Amino acid sequence: MYLYNSATHKKEEFKTHTPGRVEMYTCGPTVYHFAHIGNLRSYIMEDVLEKYLRFAGYDVNRVMNITDVGHLSSDADTGEDKMLKGAKRENKTVMDIAKFYTDAFFDDCRKLNIKTPDVVQPATGCIGEYIKIISKLVDTGYAYLAGGNVYFDSSKLERYYIFNDHDEEDLAVGVREGVEEDSNKRNKNDFVLWFTKSKFEDQALKWDSPWGVGYPGWHIECSGISMKYNGEYLDLHCGGVDNAFPHHTNEIAQSESYLGHPWCPHWFHVHHLNDPAGKMSKSKGEFLTVSLLEEKGYDPLAYRWFCLQSHYRKTLVFSWENLDNAAAGYTKLLSRIAALKPEGDVDQAVFGECRAKFLQQVGNDLNTSMAVTAVFDALKAKTNDATKLAVIGEFDKVLSLSLLEKAAALREKAAQMVQTGGGDYVITGEGDPDVDAKVLARYEAKKAKNFAEADRIRDELKAQGIEVTDVKGGASWKRV
Ligand SMILES: [Zn+2]
Repeated sequence: MYLYNSATHKKEEFKTHTPGRVEMYTCGPTVYHFAHIGNLRSYIMEDVLEKYLRFAGYDVNRVMNITDVGHLSSDADTGEDKMLKGAKRENKTVMDIAKFYTDAFFDDCRKLNIKTPDVVQPATGCIGEYIKIISKLVDTGYAYLAGGNVYFDSSKLERYYIFNDHDEEDLAVGVREGVEEDSNKRNKNDFVLWFTKSKFEDQALKWDSPWGVGYPGWHIECSGISMKYNGEYLDLHCGGVDNAFPHHTNEIAQSESYLGHPWCPHWFHVHHLNDPAGKMSKSKGEFLTVSLLEEKGYDPLAYRWFCLQSHYRKTLVFSWENLDNAAAGYTKLLSRIAALKPEGDVDQAVFGECRAKFLQQVGNDLNTSMAVTAVFDALKAKTNDATKLAVIGEFDKVLSLSLLEKAAALREKAAQMVQTGGGDYVITGEGDPDVDAKVLARYEAKKAKNFAEADRIRDELKAQGIEVTDVKGGASWKRV
């Protein structure tokens, strides 16, 4: 597989430390609020990446943290702890907030067919790991104490700006959310490894440490959790592009200083979902969640389909109109799959050819729009329906759009409708109840010897681009 690497700024052949095995880490959600669909775009694309790697034959160990402590309202360690903010907003405890929004996150993932990673670890469950790493960083001079907190000293590194596609202004501490600079820091890019009670008196969760009672910074949790479950050599680190700086830069700094060797060679960043006016933030208009999509009548998988149509390294422009177009396309695709008959033997040669082509095309920097095209190509392939269905089912191991299940449900729905209206008259079509009803009405007219009406309906359907063919015991129709 060829994958763009944010650390080297180029597309590279993906290689792993242990052949055939991928140690993969994903930055998980901060569970103080519902997940925005823009964040879920990252989890969808990472899910496709994981499934592609498994499809390509790798054994994947995927680890994800759940941030339930230490992530402040500015990624640059200033402001209030987001969890505490959530707890105050809802008048609940931090642990209640964490449980509620963790469950909500995984509900969204289920609806979007996002597989749960092999290991899911809340940050509060690995305090000992962080203390172990921080202690060594203090002992070796990479970290220092100031104002009751432990800071990582970025000046000790020869190379800090690893994802240097950010300009200097973006790197300025505190700029992101207009909060004050931390005067304890020796260098502007230093970051907190451990906070003590001196920082926040009302912090709900605190632990004992060699530096006083307190809690870990946000960045240290990903290094600690990854080293615990992925080992010292990580192959692939994923996250949203907004995590690249300072979060991932800081993860690399502390991990490599602790380990004394390179930590993770490959970095995968998913770009933003924006509205047509620019960045989509929580403060502009409606807060977009999976629940809101459902309330408005969208199938969450239509959103997954929408995401797959564009490349993960491009900004995806969200509008209701764009989502409507995607949803219509998804329904049309399902109708076309529903029209296939699961009869005959699978042509193994054709199946193998399609699979190999898919593997190669999608393996070019996770080209999901090519994967979508491959499904349409399978529908048009010169082979029998059983082979087409087998090929589409195989592709869906990566796409996870429930293509066969939803198409089968459509087929069943169409068949049920026909039985209630027309006895033994079976209509096979592309799963559109309105068209089925017209085809049935045409049959009723013919039965009543009202041929003029039957012809009129046939012409009406033809004008809509629908061709009806009489078959034994019923009729079949298709869009031409
Ligand atoms: Zn992280």
